[in-house]
Amino acid sequence: MVTKRTQELKEKSAAHVFHSFGMVVDKPEIIWEKGKGVTLWDTDGKEYLDICSFFQCCNLGYGRKELHNAALEQMNQLEYATTISPYGNIPTIEYATELAKVTPKNINRFFFNTGGTEANETAFKIAKFYWYMKGKPTKYKIICLKDAYHGSGFLTGSLSGWVNMRNYFGPEAAGVVRIPNYNCYRPSPGFEGPDGVIKAAKYLETAIDQEGEDSVAAFITEPEQGWAGGIPAPPEYFPIIREICTRRNVLWIDDEVMSGFCRTGKMFAVEHWNLEPDIMTMGKGIVSEYVPFGAVGVSDEVFSVFPGQIFAQGMTCYGHPVPAAVARAALDVYLKESICEHVTEVGNHVKERLEREFLPLPNVGNVAGMGLFLSIEIVADKDTQRKFPPEKNVMYGIIRQKCWEAGLFPRVYGSQFSDRLFFTPPLIITKEEADRALDLLYPIIAGLKDLKY
Ligand code: PLP
Repeated sequence: MVTKRTQELKEKSAAHVFHSFGMVVDKPEIIWEKGKGVTLWDTDGKEYLDICSFFQCCNLGYGRKELHNAALEQMNQLEYATTISPYGNIPTIEYATELAKVTPKNINRFFFNTGGTEANETAFKIAKFYWYMKGKPTKYKIICLKDAYHGSGFLTGSLSGWVNMRNYFGPEAAGVVRIPNYNCYRPSPGFEGPDGVIKAAKYLETAIDQEGEDSVAAFITEPEQGWAGGIPAPPEYFPIIREICTRRNVLWIDDEVMSGFCRTGKMFAVEHWNLEPDIMTMGKGIVSEYVPFGAVGVSDEVFSVFPGQIFAQGMTCYGHPVPAAVARAALDVYLKESICEHVTEVGNHVKERLEREFLPLPNVGNVAGMGLFLSIEIVADKDTQRKFPPEKNVMYGIIRQKCWEAGLFPRVYGSQFSDRLFFTPPLIITKEEADRALDLLYPIIAGLKDLKY
């Protein structure tokens, strides 16, 4: 039942709010009012189990007092002071010290900003600056994966696999190179079969040859592609990437914005490969997205060219002490509550159920993911992997709608390539809550078999 209050809020929203990221609607479908643990309530008092952590952000769930108190205490002490050179503040110093203990061994220095996009935009500037200082000013190109998503800024937007990010806005950034991704369920043409992933990894070197080593600054990847629907890189992928990047003088940027902070059962997903990237970007789970924050970690080698140089990158709020204090509180929770171990246990249980119960369904083509970064692919026909026709609006019009009705808050993803549904709840979800979510989800996915088209 839509209450009068909700109706009024929707009218006000229609008059004044310009919605971000996606279809610009006049009225929001749901107006969120409060949250606790893994549950959200809308303005009509309807309860939803959040099975997407509000777009893979709210890793620690809603209502963590430790994080609230950290923000409040820092606000009481000092609300604003940044890391703009030559100044510092206590929360960034203390957080950087703690963060260095959990990042890969070579990543010891951190540049703080306000989120994933800015972390990646900064990472690219760091990479280009590094090569400039190394006497190679022509190295400016960035190689990324097909279907990648690294943010919605200028260069990050130009890298995006989502064409809507690149249309309408005039010339794209120069020097973007796309190579086939590591999606084994839907490989790029020519990269099918058991060796397809190895071929895809090795193609990085082909791209470097084609572009010219002296023009390539960096290769950026997610360890599990989020925008592409929750597709993890297979075990053999990154060792090949690390070797090529080192030998061909290309920096490897590991984008951990979505996969970091225990999401895959490790503090950072790259630990599954036990490898060290040159640059690592972070966002979302760094503060459980309670306040805007992001970070770029750089290796000792990359940082070595910076001291004493002028690095013109920064915004008014970079290195802000309030989110830094919240990030420190969040890191304490991740460690003290052994969130990685919990994610592995619950994630294995969920994946086992997805494979045993959902995968045999006629409209589930694939189950993938690590930890609680899981997804299923929805297909019209399993044998041919054919998608439902777009006019059926299966992902948004049917699955998402039915999930809302059932009291689930899902993230669905529909692109020209694939239709996927995430199972990426707050990492504190219990096995019982996860089971309840799967029980609600099952009839919705099973019911797709009755769809006439
Ligand atoms: N990188 C990855 C892998 C992401 O998934 C995202 C956002 O979804 C970003 C970067 C951009 O982060 P933000 O939206 O915080 O700017």
